Amino acid sequence: MDVKLMDARATDDEQQAVDRVLGAPQSPWAGGARGAHRDFHTATGGAARRLERTMLLPALRALQERVGWISEGGLNYVCERLDVPPAEAWGVATFYALLSTAPRPVRMLHVCDDIGCRQRGARDLCEALRSSHGEPVVHHADGHVVLDAARPAWMTSPCLGLCDQAPAALVTDAGTVPDERLIGHVSVESARGLMAGAPLPAHAPSSAVHPAAGDPARVLLARVGVVDPASLDAYRASGGYTALARAVTLGASGVIGEVVLSRLAGRGGAAFPTGKKWEAVAAQSAGIKYVVCNADESEPGTFKDRVLLSEDPFAIIEAMTIAGFATGATRGFVYIRGEYPLAAERVTRAVDAARQAGCLGANVAGHGFAFDIEVRRGAGAYICGEETALFESIAGRRGEPRSKPPFPVHAGLFGKPTVVNNVETLANVLPIVRHGGAAFASVGSGISTGTRLWCLSGAVQRPGLYEAPMTTTLHALIARSGGVAPGRTLRAVLLGGAASTFVTPEQLAMPLTFEAARSAGASLGSGVVMVFDDQDDMEDHVLRIAAFFRDESCGQCVPCRVGTVRQEEALHRLTHRRTIGSVADEHALLAELGAAMKDGSICGLGQTAYAAVESAITTLGLFAGGRA
Ligand code: SF4
Repeated sequence: MDVKLMDARATDDEQQAVDRVLGAPQSPWAGGARGAHRDFHTATGGAARRLERTMLLPALRALQERVGWISEGGLNYVCERLDVPPAEAWGVATFYALLSTAPRPVRMLHVCDDIGCRQRGARDLCEALRSSHGEPVVHHADGHVVLDAARPAWMTSPCLGLCDQAPAALVTDAGTVPDERLIGHVSVESARGLMAGAPLPAHAPSSAVHPAAGDPARVLLARVGVVDPASLDAYRASGGYTALARAVTLGASGVIGEVVLSRLAGRGGAAFPTGKKWEAVAAQSAGIKYVVCNADESEPGTFKDRVLLSEDPFAIIEAMTIAGFATGATRGFVYIRGEYPLAAERVTRAVDAARQAGCLGANVAGHGFAFDIEVRRGAGAYICGEETALFESIAGRRGEPRSKPPFPVHAGLFGKPTVVNNVETLANVLPIVRHGGAAFASVGSGISTGTRLWCLSGAVQRPGLYEAPMTTTLHALIARSGGVAPGRTLRAVLLGGAASTFVTPEQLAMPLTFEAARSAGASLGSGVVMVFDDQDDMEDHVLRIAAFFRDESCGQCVPCRVGTVRQEEALHRLTHRRTIGSVADEHALLAELGAAMKDGSICGLGQTAYAAVESAITTLGLFAGGRA
């Protein structure tokens, strides 16, 4: 490709950072391996150079981590190395919230001001930072504000997946040895200390998990907090890799048969039958197929996948290997959200350890099939949790969802048949293969089989991660978490996440099955159970949800791009008694916008952006008359 580069040149630091990811530059005529990743992708020569587009996001992340932002010279160098036009690379760099094309200081504090953290003091925390350190940095204020590189700055962030330890923050330090920490229970003092240059604290501890260790009701969480997540030997000693051995005994079709029998439904939100997905990919005759683990957990209120990835990484690797064996895929990707540094570090180390031990590679554990995994990190974009947006992101493009069909089982990552499963979905594969699909399906009913991880947060006394069969009622689950504090009353529950709905105290007897939720007009989403009590400013929380969707819309289709903005505006008018016409007129406008987004949007973001707002108005009676 005839790529027209800009004049700006990269500094030595920037070049080194990019070369560390892409490998040392070689003559394009060599046609051979040019980086560590080359071993993973098989193409060489011209095809190889085109494939390197997939390394665009890792290369941009490397610049960000080395100098704190992506300069024109740095971008130029990446474009030169990857044969990507600068305009396209710019489009990618400006898509992600954790990347900046304007100068930023070495240290950035990303303070979560999403609903879960607001319930636990995030607004006061942000106000305190405003008064001591000025306004937060705005992501798209490219080039207008020149920040002092040595003075830390702060910005607000959508949900960081640490709702059980709210308020949360992500601190990033750029440099030759970049560092980043996700921290919880952030106080005004600790935030101001970090802004003053205090050393980075330890990563937030893993979530409190229930039931207690050793309880047989723990299936997916059996190893969490019990088995060293860094040790392959410890994983094996706790039963690790017995599922893979049994999978090989069953054979590929036998494994798929068990997964079908289990009636395992996806745990990422869409609840699609996993067995059907695997069957469809196995039936494809394509030479190259992929397994993708969707670990871009970004739904506000969700933190279950962070716990599984950080505390039981080998289980996800083993389950992906089984998926590869069953469907004929030889390559896998784990795409981890950019805000989970500890999870990314532990999964990367576990992949390396598994490869070294022969559990990944050309002949997995001597079983005669090939499978290997590459870890990729997101860079701050909720929409990349949508499966096709995730493929685009891995391929080095903006994370914009594709129209479906074709579905990923036919044309997924790099246009090849792809199994894409959520982290928790994959974790379920191990007990299914070990004990059989029928045993798995004996827990629960209908399509709601097995246990499920529930993220309890908000106004409950013991927030954390709870494992329970799907027939458990919402009331019983909240009771396990201690319920609301004495003297308070439960106002509402956001069930499933921001893309789902609020349920009322009268609906708590609902069993947490897909079927019961559907018949109640609710959704289980990604397992969020965020509880609100009578002290919560519910309209403020709904406004935050509306702002979240407006901000996270990729802007590709009009109903979503415009609808999320208009929706937020109408809610503000209702809240501040500045309605255009009557309250009923505003409600009618919101309903019309909601219908347009639902019917006319390409992906689930636009299709569900009105769900929580609608339930807030119709079920909770909010936005009924404005307030002073
Ligand atoms: Fe992008 Fe929204 Fe359209 Fe989805 S619905 S593709 S997020 S603009």
